[in-house]
Amino acid sequence: MNATQKLEFLIQDHNLSADLKAIATKVIQGERISFDEGVLLYEKGELGYLGALANFIREKRHGDKTYFNRNFHIEPTNVCVYDCKFCAYSRLIKEREQGWEMDVDGMMEIVQKYDGEPVTEVHITGGVVPKQNLEFYAEFFKRCKAHRPDLHIKGLTPVEYYYIFKKAKLSHYDGLKYLKECGLDSMPGGGAEIFDSEIREKIAGDKCTAEQWLDIHEQAHSLGMRTNATMLYGHIEEFKHRVDHMDRLRQLQDKTGGFQAFIPLKFRNQGHQMSDVPEVSVIEDLRNYAISRIYLDNFEHIKAYWAMISRDTAQLSLAFGVDDIDGTLDDTTKIYSMAGAEEQTPAMSTQQLVELIRQVGRHPIERDTLYGVITDFKDVVFETENKPKYYSLPVVE
Ligand code: SF4
Repeated sequence: MNATQKLEFLIQDHNLSADLKAIATKVIQGERISFDEGVLLYEKGELGYLGALANFIREKRHGDKTYFNRNFHIEPTNVCVYDCKFCAYSRLIKEREQGWEMDVDGMMEIVQKYDGEPVTEVHITGGVVPKQNLEFYAEFFKRCKAHRPDLHIKGLTPVEYYYIFKKAKLSHYDGLKYLKECGLDSMPGGGAEIFDSEIREKIAGDKCTAEQWLDIHEQAHSLGMRTNATMLYGHIEEFKHRVDHMDRLRQLQDKTGGFQAFIPLKFRNQGHQMSDVPEVSVIEDLRNYAISRIYLDNFEHIKAYWAMISRDTAQLSLAFGVDDIDGTLDDTTKIYSMAGAEEQTPAMSTQQLVELIRQVGRHPIERDTLYGVITDFKDVVFETENKPKYYSLPVVE
């Protein structure tokens, strides 16, 4: 049974309520669902139903294709002027001796470590400190591009940019334009957390607001940069806050078309000020991927960080709307492990990542940051796999 037949079968189910049938019909017809319908999916949608809808959309857009890239991370600092209640990664300025703060030379050493390696992207993210200012990043971007022009720089989030541009007395547009001229190529999706102002105030009250986050992405899009968007879910927010978050993203995407991927990030409860808040189940993770695939009809990709959610859940997520499981990574990144991720030393070779995708019947494609195809691994045979075994037999003269 293909994905369409499954959905048509689902609609005929007498036990399915009329409102959920109406949503399924909309999905088959390619129509957008409303805010209230988004909330209804969270309240009433069972895993099997949501998976059927999300997989229908995923396969209509991408078939079995599943994307990953080869990248490495630089985390310039884990010291931070902010104090997000859910953050187990950062160290406050007053505890800065427990953290690290790199200089531009240190960051360039990491870039140089990858000379000759087939990586296509450097992903830069971390805390916010005064000395890592506009000129600091301008210098790094310039040196990085001069050293390796083909390396795509996906760097920083509106949290850093808001702080940096304010200190430099530049508008969001002018600041981004300048850094783009220095070598910045695109922006990752972090710092969005949850847009609702009351919840945001409680969990991340002192960093940029939802409006500032959205404006910085809008300005980046107006400069021709592509960006991603995240959502931190499963803490003190309600379902309506998740839909509100996605709705604001959907509206901006209608206006600019500049977002590439939506990345739901699960709240983990280790090592920070919100450790008393229980984590949601894997079932809720999968429901959330599926609903985001259904709601964000103008986003091309839904991405899961395998390092955050574990390899098994990443495989499952591919049946719930996800078509991208991020990068090969290596063990230089600390942001996942310190944030309570399933993988404490996240590293996977290309072959392992390809096999992970193939094991669930999907078609692995290595992409660049902008989803250009680097290698289609559909029929690639690795040297160590499927080799016929020959035994030497005694030769009879
Ligand atoms: S989440 Fe980001 S902005 Fe907030 S404290 Fe942690 S590093 Fe700083």
